[in-house]
Amino acid sequence: MSDKSKYNSVVTQIIQVSPSMRIIRVKPDKWEMPPFKPGQFVVLGLMGDEPRIKEAAPEHKPAQPDKLIRRAYSIASSSRDDYVEFYISLVKSGQLTPRLFNLDIGDRLFMSQKPTGMFTLDQVPEDQNLILFATGTGIAPYMSMLRSDALSRQGKIAVVHGADNSWDLGYHGELKLLERMFPHKLKYYPTILRPDKEPAHWDGDTRFFEEIWKDPIFKEKIGFEPSPDNTHIFLCGNPNMVTSMKSILKEDGYKEHTKREPGQIHAEEF
Ligand SMILES: Cc1cc2nc3c(=O)[nH]c(=O)nc-3n(C[C@H](O)[C@H](O)[C@H](O)COP(=O)(O)OP(=O)(O)OC[C@H]3O[C@@H](n4cnc5c(N)ncnc54)[C@H](O)[C@@H]3O)c2cc1C
Repeated sequence: MSDKSKYNSVVTQIIQVSPSMRIIRVKPDKWEMPPFKPGQFVVLGLMGDEPRIKEAAPEHKPAQPDKLIRRAYSIASSSRDDYVEFYISLVKSGQLTPRLFNLDIGDRLFMSQKPTGMFTLDQVPEDQNLILFATGTGIAPYMSMLRSDALSRQGKIAVVHGADNSWDLGYHGELKLLERMFPHKLKYYPTILRPDKEPAHWDGDTRFFEEIWKDPIFKEKIGFEPSPDNTHIFLCGNPNMVTSMKSILKEDGYKEHTKREPGQIHAEEF
């Protein structure tokens, strides 16, 4: 048996969004998570000899039984919560996720104690609008922002969430509710890419972000005309989406944000 002394946290809730998507709440055991900025991430870890779910595929690279497998996960909860929430997608041939998907309530794991990351709103002026694009579990950092203080900012917010199917749209209910509660502030815009597989009619969008962005009706629907002067764009999730959206946005005059040179494009690749 490997040494589990690094395990410092316990699973307190699991919400199975779909067979391959899970929301997990984790509580630090006898320590407190320091305050974090919405959009930041921590590292979760399990030892290599922990069992993998039975649906898993062979590991693309076998884990070492006596080593902690560590991966970054964006925080989906707010700093006010007494648990830390994650939205995790199963990579069947991966090392950590098939083990995370095997956890039950009460099981222990490692969680790093220092949230990090620059994918945050603190460098975006209050009056700027926000368009938050996410594929899959890339919605997690935006949930943390919306559950914290993003909705009290002056600018408007559009959340564009892409997934294969409607059942993969984690947080759909909460985002719909927030949109109803803040109709002049928040627009939730889901899009699914495999409408042929839907069990019931889907009357929302079915296009990639690139097409949606170029459609003038999208800009009508979100209730503002974005420009590099009034809007910051966040991109989170699939690296291909991030690369292709960056290049389209740059053609429209947006610049990547860095510490040295402020710009309007902020990106986090999973
Ligand atoms: C800053 C940051 C925040 C992140 N936040 C989240 C989060 O909130 N939720 C989340 O689910 N993941 C998140 N990730 C990704 C996460 O860190 C892991 O990479 C992912 O969970 C796979 O880990 P694994 O050990 O199961 O797979 P690994 O053993 O690391 O294998 C991953 C390999 O599988 C391939 N692969 C296929 N599909 C995927 C996929 N969907 N994701 C990753 N790799 C894939 C990749 O090419 C890669 O080579 C984040 C990554 C970063 C850098």
